[in-house]
Amino acid sequence: MTTIFGKVVRREIPADIVYEDEVCLAFRDINPQAPTHVLIVPKKEIAKLSDAGAGDESLLGHLMLAAGRVARDLGVGDAFRLVVNNGAEAGQSVFHLHLHLLAGRKFRWPPG
Ligand code: AMP
Repeated sequence: MTTIFGKVVRREIPADIVYEDEVCLAFRDINPQAPTHVLIVPKKEIAKLSDAGAGDESLLGHLMLAAGRVARDLGVGDAFRLVVNNGAEAGQSVFHLHLHLLAGRKFRWPPG
């Protein structure tokens, strides 16, 4: 089922896009939780990480490499956090798989 991120991927609604390739799109989070907060979103509509299958192995690796590239491009390549919220109880609110790339402030551990 399509979500707001599917609409961003299809350019039906605007977003502050910082990176795009054939597999994914990266755009700034509308409600940033750090000075840099970018979402790395596959163009393929997978609702959540636990729905990905063996056929998605290269896609998932691609997202990780894209995150590293976006971090470098934005000048935060040495200090960032990647987060995937999987399922509503883990804080997922948009059911289209995405990585949160957060940077520009101190992060606590364990995460909240
Ligand atoms: P999650 O809670 O892990 O599903 O993350 C969803 C994220 O999407 C939240 O951080 C929202 O602030 C963000 N978000 C929701 N709608 C938009 C939008 N139209 N453009 C950019 N970010 C959005």
